[in-house]
This record gives sequence, structure tokens and C-alpha cells, in this order.
Amino acid sequence: MTDFAKTKSLFHLPAGLLYLDGNSLGPLPRAAADRVGAMMQQEWGDLLVTAWTRADWINQPSRVGNRVGKLIGAPAGSVVMGDTLSIKLYQALASALEMSAERKIILSDSGNFPTDLYMAQGLIKSLDRGYELQLCEPEEIENRLSAEVAVLMLTEVDYRSGRLHDMRSLTEKAHEDGILTIWDLAHSAGALPVRVADCDVDFAVGCSYKYLNSGPGGPAFIYVAPRLVEQVQPALCGWLGHQAPFDFGLDYRPAAGIERMRIGTPPILQLTALEASLDIWDMVDIEDVRAVSIELSSLFIELVEASCPELELASPRDERRRGSQVSFRFEHGYAAMRALINRGLIGDFRAPDIMRFGFTPLYLEAGEVRKAALIIEDVMSNRLWDRPRYHEHSPVT
Ligand SMILES: *Cc1c(COP(=O)(O)O)cnc(C)c1O
Repeated sequence: MTDFAKTKSLFHLPAGLLYLDGNSLGPLPRAAADRVGAMMQQEWGDLLVTAWTRADWINQPSRVGNRVGKLIGAPAGSVVMGDTLSIKLYQALASALEMSAERKIILSDSGNFPTDLYMAQGLIKSLDRGYELQLCEPEEIENRLSAEVAVLMLTEVDYRSGRLHDMRSLTEKAHEDGILTIWDLAHSAGALPVRVADCDVDFAVGCSYKYLNSGPGGPAFIYVAPRLVEQVQPALCGWLGHQAPFDFGLDYRPAAGIERMRIGTPPILQLTALEASLDIWDMVDIEDVRAVSIELSSLFIELVEASCPELELASPRDERRRGSQVSFRFEHGYAAMRALINRGLIGDFRAPDIMRFGFTPLYLEAGEVRKAALIIEDVMSNRLWDRPRYHEHSPVT
């Protein structure tokens, strides 16, 4: 069994704060500051540009990619880090469309994260080849699969409700119709067991600053199935995805394997911070994370439902169909979340009425979940949210 008391001690968690928002931004691993500080002094400071080889910065995106790969069931050499999730999604989609040239439909669901849909809309416009983005309800996906669909593009865990798609079954069904699949694992990586290779998915992308705790702006990851990667023609042809970047040739030739999904200079400081977090992940069995996450989220639902009749559960009650977050609907959810944050309980709000709470066994335990439920009860039963200052919207929710 994973030693969660130990993993908890390895994070900086401000005293008196209940942090139920690690699904949006993971906390600071204590070792990250020293690790990044040492890297800055010894590598950037002392080695300067020679650190690209002497400290092997140049291979850091694939080195770290292999470690992230272990958390999503990807074999070595099939994951690389870099850029933002929006960009990695764009790359995956552009490549997938290129590979099924005759088909024109991109299928996704209304629960997908808006940036994924926006990136698809932008790509469709620039390609100008008659592609169409079709959205349906999450439950309708299966019925909408057909030989007309080029790409099925889904986020495994819905960012609002926490509803978990059946990645294995949908991928299998999509493949029966010759459809390529792109899975966004933003709310899966580090939250639950993921087996991209075993489920035979074609492309997967995700970010590292949520459950993987790399810090704000940490790089995204991209996985391409090894059986496909040599056919992939990257749409964003950056020099570091070139076969021989330092030949400085005038024409693009993709690098072998997953390296071709690299674009430009990688974020070395952020990758180094992520390495400090992955050291903690090395001590963890993701099956244990899932088991404790279910315990914590089920306890939370039970306590909140028992004391707050105004809050309506927006997440699946069936734990097997839920990711690692719990959401409640409340008309004044924004103000209520502001009131909770003011009381030291941090979750977040997603329009129009969703109060969202993330469960992260690496640094959250049952005692804190109980305390959180008591604060919610107090805020709700005493209408503490109903103060003018809690109703003023800030640009980030
Ligand atoms: C968090 C999240 C994003 C964020 O994309 P960035 O480019 O990292 O800002 C994208 N997609 C999903 C599904 C997310 O949950």
C-alpha cells in the first residue's frame, strides 16, 4: 500500500487551508524549489548554453515523457512533453485528420473542455477542406459513430461533472468503424489508472499542472500509438521535431518516433519542477490512489448530501463512472465558492452553477474531507454566501 502520510509530507500545504482544487492546480512539491534552484545555479548559471548537452536538457522532454508515460500505461518512447495542452490537442487532431483524408467529421461531446473544441474549430477553418465538428451528448457518442467520422475526440473525465467515459469500449467501437481516437487525459493522468496502450488508443494528450503537480504553466504531454507514429505528419513542424535539427536544413523532415511531436525549445525550468513531483509519483501505486480517491469522494458526497439539501449532486453517484472530483449544482454556486474560499476551503466554480471539489489522496485525507463538509454546511445553512462581495465576479473562477 502506498504511504500517503509520507507523500503528503512531501508537499508544501499552507497551514489551515483545505485544498480541494488539485484538479485545477496541484500544490508545490517541497523538493521542487530546491531542485529548480539548483538547476538554475548549476546548469543555467554555470554551464550556460553547454547545459543542452552537459546537463542533457535536449532530451529532457522525452526523459520526463517516459516517466509520465508510466502513469498512463504508455511504453517507453511513446510520450513526449512540451507546449500547452491546447497545442498538443491541435497537433494530435491535425495529424489524425491527415491520416483519414476522405472522412470529414470530427465527433466530440458537449462535455468536452471548450479549448479542445475551439482548437478544433480553428484548425477546421485554416484547413478549409470541409471538415465539420459534430457535438452530441456524452451518452450519445456510441450511436453517433459511423464510417463518416474521421476522428473521435473526447476528454475522458468531464471537467464539470467528473463523468468518466469508458475509454476502452469507446475506442474499440470507434476502431470497428475505422475511426481514429484522441483522448484528452487532463483529469485522468494522476487521478486514476489509465492504460492507453492496453486500450489501443491512437492519440492521447494531457497536462501536467493538475494532478501531476508541475506548477502553473507546466508542459503538456502527447502520446502517439507506436503502431502509428511513423505515419504521423506533424502539422506544427518545429525544428526540434526535425530529424536533424542541428543540420539546419531548409526543408522539414520529421524525427523518428514520438520526437516528431516536439516543436520548439522546451520549458526546462518547468520540466525540472515536474521531475520533483514525479519523484513523489515514483512512490505511489495509482491503484491505491484510485481506491482512496473513491473513499474520499464517496464520504464527501455522503456528508454534504446529508447536511446541505440545497446542493444537487452533479457527478455520477456510481463511483465507477466518476473521475476524482465531485461537483454540486447550486444557483448561487459562484458566491458560495467565494464564501468557502474565504473560510479556507479551496475548490472552484464552473459556469453556470457548478461547485467543483477535487480529491487527491497524495495530500488529502478523510479528516480534511470531514472538515470541508462542516464548512460547507455552515456556509449553506447560515447563507454566509449571500453577501454582496461574494457576488462580484473575478476574471478567474
Ligand atoms: C485543463 C484543461 C485544458 C487546458 O489547456 P491548456 O492549454 O493547458 O490551458 C484543456 N483541456 C482539458 C480537457 C482540460 O481539462
